[in-house]
Amino acid sequence: MSRTPESAGRRADVARALDETRLRIERACEAAGRADPVTLVVVTKTFPAADVDLLVDLGVTDVGENRDQEASAKSSELGARSPLLRWHMIGQVQRNKARSVVGWADVIESVDRPALATALGAAAMAIGRRVDVLIQVNLDPEPQPGRGGAHPQEVPALADLIAEQEGLRLAGVMGVAPNPAGAASAKASARDAFDRLMLLSGQVRRTHPQAQVVSAGMSGDLEEAIAAGATQVRVGGAILGHRPPVQ
Ligand SMILES: *Cc1c(COP(=O)(O)O)cnc(C)c1O
Repeated sequence: MSRTPESAGRRADVARALDETRLRIERACEAAGRADPVTLVVVTKTFPAADVDLLVDLGVTDVGENRDQEASAKSSELGARSPLLRWHMIGQVQRNKARSVVGWADVIESVDRPALATALGAAAMAIGRRVDVLIQVNLDPEPQPGRGGAHPQEVPALADLIAEQEGLRLAGVMGVAPNPAGAASAKASARDAFDRLMLLSGQVRRTHPQAQVVSAGMSGDLEEAIAAGATQVRVGGAILGHRPPVQ
């Protein structure tokens, strides 16, 4: 991809913001007395392939996307540099997109229902892949159906089903902190949600010890997630800036 004065400015901005985010993660680990690594997934949704390309130069290993079509195009555009990254699907997956998603995603973080798990398992098997998946948990204190994310009570059975799929590898759990209207403190409610996610993770790990990943925390609440025990954070805006509106 060509280098222009404009792209040099972009590179400097992203490099600075990435350093700041890495420092925030380091400080949060220190504050929590943690020495185990926390994986940074840079959320590149709505940003161009040129940004993903420069993230590779800056040492980023993991990127997150939320739309199949956009991600698959970006991954192709990256060409030979695409396999240098682990591509995470963090958005809702329609069952009829299963074949396409397993073509570009290395990790699918948003598996939340049995029919999706079996469709992804079959699609991965058909192309001879084994794809990591996380169970997305609905962390709403009173989960409503159809919001994205499995109800906490559904998680153990879903974990067993995923573990049975030869094309999938159960790698852990994922959650997004809810933003209940009128919450006294967004940070306290995020921490409470992440604590509940950690409890569920412990429950899953008792029967599936390999499912170590806890993906939680975004630009606004990564400190709360790391304090709770998250092994992976997903950060977009704090690194790449304001997201252009979705087309
Ligand atoms: C967009 C998105 C993020 C990143 O959010 P920021 O606030 O930009 O850091 C993380 N997780 C999921 C599931 C997302 O959709």
